[in-house]
Amino acid sequence: MRQFLFWSLLAVAAALSNAAHAARPNILFIFTDDHAYQSIGAYGSQINKTPNIDRLAREGMLFQRCYVPNSICGPIRAVIQTGKYSHVNGFLVNGNKFDGAQQTFPKLLQRVGYQTAVIGKWHLGEHMPPQGFDYAEVLIGQGPYYNPPMLRNGKRVKHVGYTTDIITDLALKWLRERESEEPFMLMYQHKAPHRNWQPSPKHLTMYDDVTIPEPPTLFDTYAGRGTPARTQDMSIAKTMTDSDLKLVAPRNLTAAQRKLWDAAYEPKNRAFRAAQLQGRELVQWKYQRYIKDYLRCIASVDDNIGRVLRYLDDTGLAANTVVVYSSDQGFYLGEHGWFDKRWMYEESLRTPLIVRWPQVTKAGSVNKQIVSPLDFAETFLELAEADIPGDMQGRSLVPLLRGETPADWRKSFYYHYYEYPGWHDVRRHYGVTNGRYKLIRFYEPDIDEWELYDLKADPHELKSVYGEPKYKSVQAALLADLARLRKQYGVPEKDPAAALGGGKDNPTSARIRKKNEKGREKKD
Ligand code: CA
Repeated sequence: MRQFLFWSLLAVAAALSNAAHAARPNILFIFTDDHAYQSIGAYGSQINKTPNIDRLAREGMLFQRCYVPNSICGPIRAVIQTGKYSHVNGFLVNGNKFDGAQQTFPKLLQRVGYQTAVIGKWHLGEHMPPQGFDYAEVLIGQGPYYNPPMLRNGKRVKHVGYTTDIITDLALKWLRERESEEPFMLMYQHKAPHRNWQPSPKHLTMYDDVTIPEPPTLFDTYAGRGTPARTQDMSIAKTMTDSDLKLVAPRNLTAAQRKLWDAAYEPKNRAFRAAQLQGRELVQWKYQRYIKDYLRCIASVDDNIGRVLRYLDDTGLAANTVVVYSSDQGFYLGEHGWFDKRWMYEESLRTPLIVRWPQVTKAGSVNKQIVSPLDFAETFLELAEADIPGDMQGRSLVPLLRGETPADWRKSFYYHYYEYPGWHDVRRHYGVTNGRYKLIRFYEPDIDEWELYDLKADPHELKSVYGEPKYKSVQAALLADLARLRKQYGVPEKDPAAALGGGKDNPTSARIRKKNEKGREKKD
């Protein structure tokens, strides 16, 4: 009798546990590369429409202040995997090798019974397959926009077609074929809209008949800032190559793809060559060419997200799936005359974050708390009812998604960029922002300059007020906060990037400069 009772209780406990587990949501993480919030309808875009991403915002929560810890591709992916700053997870700059043996959130989800997959861009190196995934089909390095070779669980496979469509096809295939008993976590990660912005055959002539408005700072002179803004190499005027500007066609197209490509670009290129534009007019032409191609790539992303959302609707999965939309960082769409990212200035510090969690998150809500990709791992673990390891450095967003803000939620944020010498010549820097003010220190190997911005008085960050008497107390408070955060996160006094070398005589620097001159589009 006692034994019978024991087994009965065990059966009841198991049933309860299964019921609890059955309620755990699926997690669909939709991730793009370099998608600026300025080009998302829900964030107020004046230059394009993104109906499917906007739908997620309408049905979920949009975060206004999602700050990246290090505004560059590979490092943010490592931050997301680990929930730790770059100096802790060891991935400081593109080109570092990610240590996949360390603790990552997909491994922890597997342990609590989630099926996990990553499909699309990985960009944490091919030295080892992605760890912690039941299925991985990833681009090799940056991957091309057309006809991408991919690694399917480590084995090379070749696809023909447009990469944004292919990644979506593969994600839908995995969703259809997965075992359905356990919840899933799928990282569905696009290459688009990364440089050099090659549109799909469907969107090659989109925007041909319109002029996209220019940002007010397209012709920035950098007068109110220090050396770094003036010595960068990421301007639309000077840095863009013929390949960026589609004055030469991609080399890896099939004959049919090439025919469509040439039909779209050749007439426009002929007109451009004949016009012999100079100076300001030339920059304006380059801006139009750049932004239209960029937005065409976004149009493909948005269409494909629509396909996935429809699949969730049609299969009934939508009700118990948390859908997250984010990008690895923000991007300059001509602001300050730039493209690319890296800086702690707003356009590249802030990244889009939209979360739809049916029945929990209030539809159409907007959150202004400071959040970060540093928080994603912790959030996914809490959604899966798994323990959050004490060594992770972010914080679960679940309370915010429930509409509650913990009293001790962060009020300021630490940022640190390391990749100098490197592509686009953006100096190493770190800093702190509280959303109202921002303090930045540019440092090493041959510079030490501070900048301070009043984001209310100067939202475009055109004039540093560092050292101005009016801001004495603000500056002192930010300096103290910066020291506090560096201590809290264990940032070493000795620059963690020192081993990378630096300075004009450094061979790394010389090598990169040479590469920069040869072909800038390849490695950023
Ligand atoms: Ca990126």
